[in-house]
Amino acid sequence: MAAPVPPGAPRQQPPTGPPPNFQQNPNALADNFQNMNLNRPPSSNTRQPPFGQPPPFSSSAPASQRPGPFPPGAVPRPASGPPTPTLPPNMAPGRPSGAPFGQPPPFGSRPPPPGAFPSSMPPSAGSPPYGAPPPGARPSPVNMMPSGAPSGFISNGPPAPTFQGGQRFAPPGSSQQQAPMGAPPAMGPPGRAPPQAGAMHPFMGSPGAGASQVPPPSGMNQVAPTFGGPPQAMSGSVVSPYAPQMSSQPGVPPMPGSMPPPRMYGMPPPMQNQMTAISPVIGQTGGTQPGASKIDPNQIPRPIPSSSVILHDTRQGNQANPPPPATSDYIVRDTGNCSPRYMRCTINQIPCTADLLTTSGMQLALLVQPLALPHPSEEPIQIVDFGEGGPVRCSRCKGYINPFMKFIDQGRRFICNLCGFTDETPRDYHCNLGPDGRRRDADERPELCRGTVEFVATKEYMVREPMPAVYFFLIDVSMNAIQTGATAAACSSINQVIADLPEGPRTMVGIATFDSTIHFYNLKRVLQQPQMLIVPDVQDVYTPLQTDVIVPVSECRQHLELLLESIPTMFENTRTSESAFGAAIKAAFLAMKSTGGKLMVFQSVLPSIGLGALAAREAEGRSNISAGDKEAHKLLQPADKTLKDMAVEFAEYQVCVDVFITTKTYVDIASISVIPKVTGGQVYYYHPFSVVLDSVKLYNDLRWNVSRPQGFEAVMRVRCSQGIQVQEYHGNFCKRIPTDVDLPGIDCDKAIMVTLKHDDKLQDGAECAFQCALLYTTVYGERRIRVTTLSLPCTSNLSNLFRMADLDTQFVCFLKQAAREIPITPPLHVREQVTNFCINILLSYRKFCATVSSSGQLILPEALKLLPLYTLALIKSAGLRIEGKIDDRSFWINYVSSVSTPSAIPLVYPRMIAVHDLDTQEVNGSIVPAPLPLSSEHVSDEGIYLLENGQDCLIYVGNSVNPDILQQSLGVPSADQGGAEFNLQQYDNPLSKKLNEVINEIRRQRCSFLRLRLCRKGEQSGMAFFSYLIEDKVPTGGLSYVEFLVHIHRQIQMKMSS
Ligand SMILES: [Zn+2]
Repeated sequence: MAAPVPPGAPRQQPPTGPPPNFQQNPNALADNFQNMNLNRPPSSNTRQPPFGQPPPFSSSAPASQRPGPFPPGAVPRPASGPPTPTLPPNMAPGRPSGAPFGQPPPFGSRPPPPGAFPSSMPPSAGSPPYGAPPPGARPSPVNMMPSGAPSGFISNGPPAPTFQGGQRFAPPGSSQQQAPMGAPPAMGPPGRAPPQAGAMHPFMGSPGAGASQVPPPSGMNQVAPTFGGPPQAMSGSVVSPYAPQMSSQPGVPPMPGSMPPPRMYGMPPPMQNQMTAISPVIGQTGGTQPGASKIDPNQIPRPIPSSSVILHDTRQGNQANPPPPATSDYIVRDTGNCSPRYMRCTINQIPCTADLLTTSGMQLALLVQPLALPHPSEEPIQIVDFGEGGPVRCSRCKGYINPFMKFIDQGRRFICNLCGFTDETPRDYHCNLGPDGRRRDADERPELCRGTVEFVATKEYMVREPMPAVYFFLIDVSMNAIQTGATAAACSSINQVIADLPEGPRTMVGIATFDSTIHFYNLKRVLQQPQMLIVPDVQDVYTPLQTDVIVPVSECRQHLELLLESIPTMFENTRTSESAFGAAIKAAFLAMKSTGGKLMVFQSVLPSIGLGALAAREAEGRSNISAGDKEAHKLLQPADKTLKDMAVEFAEYQVCVDVFITTKTYVDIASISVIPKVTGGQVYYYHPFSVVLDSVKLYNDLRWNVSRPQGFEAVMRVRCSQGIQVQEYHGNFCKRIPTDVDLPGIDCDKAIMVTLKHDDKLQDGAECAFQCALLYTTVYGERRIRVTTLSLPCTSNLSNLFRMADLDTQFVCFLKQAAREIPITPPLHVREQVTNFCINILLSYRKFCATVSSSGQLILPEALKLLPLYTLALIKSAGLRIEGKIDDRSFWINYVSSVSTPSAIPLVYPRMIAVHDLDTQEVNGSIVPAPLPLSSEHVSDEGIYLLENGQDCLIYVGNSVNPDILQQSLGVPSADQGGAEFNLQQYDNPLSKKLNEVINEIRRQRCSFLRLRLCRKGEQSGMAFFSYLIEDKVPTGGLSYVEFLVHIHRQIQMKMSS
């Protein structure tokens, strides 16, 4: 493997190389897109077998897939000078925050104050103009808004008040960089000063700037040498330390009488180990009573989010810089490795051998979110146009040129950092090397100094002209949908978001409605009014008038508005209760087949007739499945293969399906969700649907859906350095060949998990690179290749793996795997697997990395100290609640499959804040106050609390709240009033203003218009609220957090002694 090229070293001379418009071997470039299958006409009725594709590295593409005409958006740009940025690709107009229906916004969009979101910060004097390509640099690194970068008013976090106009990054090499970084300590080079012993911050999830908020706990003054001996045992020959899996029983509390009282120790980091963790310890000091009550709940690890923005350089001193926690607020400077928003690894050092990884108990995986929203203060991704030759690639593995490819022989050849192959440098791309061994133009070329770039795709990457942006809306008009107001809400929302669709002649729309039959509408402008065309056959569907049901939005806007306004009344007296959902989506697909596009379905009842009809597997009135029902989890599997087969066909023709489920009843999400999952889409779930509560949310969700950064007809592949290979991809996509995933749609919110495995030994000290290439079409018809590269050091030292573990990524990977298990494994077994995952990691750490004289101590590695808490939260989460409704659990499973890390953590471990004293709380600069532990001890009868998980927002009102506060904040005189259908208003008082501000900010952070629910003690709603307080003991058997720690500790002790 090639040594990495230092990406940040200073340059002395301007670029001297020739322009890169060389003619590269077209055969090399033609590879890797034969998998696109764009609109491939089926050769016969039988679908191609999944592995029947040409081999991924075949030397040329089949002649039948030669590129089509050159797309308008990909016309080679002039070699220099930025293009006129008239239509930033995928520019997102705003996050969900506004109100539809002409009302004053209940939580109006909060435009930032002028200058609050500097979309492009001026570089400080003396520092290099990072990101700004020098004039004339070639290939033209066009510094235009990338598809992932919305306008400056869109933030991926709070505005960055601390950086207004100021210096964004500490000077290179400055040790201050470490302070705001907030990553687990001692991640830097060995010589770095360790964190202060006894300081509380290493104990918390996000040390750093926020640490000072934490009051020092009373048990922390004892310093014990938790880690002693160096981990000599760490080598490839270490055998797995695990005894056969024990039958742990999470539901059974530990035996009374043996619970050790807790003791916690801090310790200074012994330098020889590079261990700086302070381990919370539950010590055994001879207590004889049940010890749970003796553990001070204030001293067990909990996440403490930093309230200030973290600045993160992806590489420092030619070394990978471990990223800040995924859930923290950070601003990234891409100094060679990609931003952690786009790709992060479960461990920030790569184990040299599979044995070492197995010993650690951890998993090795990447979480890839290729179109993730950047922070508005981050430099946009640069677009690089290599002209007709296309981007430089390795001729063996087809890896894309990146900062870690090493140029040798005076720049005439380069060594691929992925496969080790040496290639001739294309003549037009040649550049001499400087004294430091780097190309002299490395700093001027984004592809040689940035971890993420976007290449303009040449016609070699196309099998047809890039598709237009097609949006097809399919609306349920059955009796139930009409009567609940769901149809009206859908029509109104669609009508509002038409204006948010991408502008331009390539944006097309179509509409159909369905009940027991399917109704298309001819939207041609020449007609006086839209003409309804009924498809009565719901078994063998067809689509009428292929060309007239999908038309450019500019040509049908009036017809569209008229139609959407009249649909609810057209069907208002309907008595048709049947729903031909499957047939309707098939018919809509047939209408879209020639182009591909987004199909958005609004569905309110169980699909009952025609193609893909489903049975009410969960009988009405039987909302709960008994816990003893061993087969219950099978209801979480799709009923049959009909919808799956349809979905695969949709994906083949680049149709991405989103389903908006507005219902009061069971609709079998387990079956329906297969379609969004396979086509790169998403399920939205409004249950129990309420016009009052959900209309605004539906509109906001739909608006974000069409306006967020996204791409169409995408293909993604991850390549790894020699020694590591991709094991499997997990997420919402269609997979036809082992190496690539097909994504008819991909957007900024979707993440894909990529599990990795060793196929060889890695060299200690070398670097191992991962490169994700996403070939996609923007909403404006430009074909692009977003290339994201991450290079991490390899280690043969087990303690390094624990030190460099990425808790959030590690946990989210496990969450996704658990979600996949839930439909096929009884819940108790899944809980056991989840618990054992946690235990095995801690056992390995205890056994090989920690030396503690007392066996009565639970040692938590610093970087993973929240793992038990998150594991407990997962065990108690909606997906694993046996008593939960089947559709709720199916929705959770589907959501988890594509959820990003920053959204996954709150889904499992929600955020709770006190809101009754918002007007007087010290908030330390951030709008949302510090979260409270998820324990009922922190919920007072006199208080009002808000709890949110990115999907729902519960407002809990205690029994004894001061009526004045209740009136001011919620506008109700007592907790008994304000019905279940509760809409928050803003009143003219500081508390109400603050509460509205906080909720707006949460909605903005989550990119989700969370629905508010009022919860009261003693009612069902109150029980729902308390079910999220995962630190509590659950009467039906769930352990408290303290009990869970004790349980884990005992399991580890048993395994140690066995
Ligand atoms: Zn290669």
